[in-house]
Amino acid sequence: MATTTTEPSAEYDIDEQPQPHDETPAAERTLPWPATATNPVRVRWRYAIGIPLVHVLACLAFFPYFFSWTGVVLAVLGLYVFGTLGINLCYHRLLTHQGFVVPKKLEHALAVLGVCTLQDTPACWVAMHRIHHRHSDEQPDPHSPLVAFLWGHCGWLMFVNRDFVNINYYQKYTRDLLRDPFYLNLERGWKWLFIYLASMAVFFLAGFGIGAASGGLAAGVQFGASLVVWGVFVRTIATWHITWSVNSVTHVWGYRNYETSDNSRNNILVGLWSNGEGWHNNHHADQRAAAHGHKWWEFDVTWITIRVLEKLGLARDIVRPKSWKDSAATPSA
Ligand SMILES: [Zn+2]
Ligand SMILES: [Zn+2]
Repeated sequence: MATTTTEPSAEYDIDEQPQPHDETPAAERTLPWPATATNPVRVRWRYAIGIPLVHVLACLAFFPYFFSWTGVVLAVLGLYVFGTLGINLCYHRLLTHQGFVVPKKLEHALAVLGVCTLQDTPACWVAMHRIHHRHSDEQPDPHSPLVAFLWGHCGWLMFVNRDFVNINYYQKYTRDLLRDPFYLNLERGWKWLFIYLASMAVFFLAGFGIGAASGGLAAGVQFGASLVVWGVFVRTIATWHITWSVNSVTHVWGYRNYETSDNSRNNILVGLWSNGEGWHNNHHADQRAAAHGHKWWEFDVTWITIRVLEKLGLARDIVRPKSWKDSAATPSA
């Protein structure tokens, strides 16, 4: 199999002076609370309300009324469909890092799956993640756990960081994406929320139709509600914590294959439950590579999916890890 080694496109290069790096080894570094987010404190209500609210709604799963095995199965499948395809494969490896190319219609469909995880619009997610890579575990990093573990996990989402509300600064990191009217359109108004609510309606109506056909109206409502609670709310918070653990856990605990200037780690648990995103030190060392598992045993379901798309003729120009070039051990390559 030929190896493609596409260099980063000009659009992906950010026209900004290199930042001075903290010379303290990352493992010994602590960061102060970012003044741009805490002085003054301005709550980002979209998240400060949304995150606790969806957690409370997911707790309905503890009530037997909202249980169905179909709902549980949909929750597990949803981790792959929305989390792996929408976030790992599309938002992260495709849109942020341009590690491969798929047909535009497929790219847009995958991006809609990402929107259904309530992890913000593609452009917002991409901007934050590119800033994270540019300033990893340094003061301007939006979500370094070297400030505090919970800050890196999800605390950073709940406060307005004035560094990132400047539209010029924000657009600088997403110029390539916002040139596409599809992504520009998703930035307008509350479209992202309507898409999420529409996905809820699909789950409920499908469950209602099936339940009502076999057991009447009450059975339809119960079955539809069980699919929403498990297939949407439980799946949403599970997807959140999986993504957030990549930002928090894999910048604190794990082993390192590469001596990067940040504190990124390969964490076996996160690697497995995130379907490949937890091989995060590999990723920081070789950001554009579409495969994050570099050793044969670093199992990466997202990479396997990209390979399947390639076999189907749906993915091309795939950037493979530099370390595979001279190595005999090239997992799934
Ligand atoms: Zn990344
Ligand atoms: Zn990172």
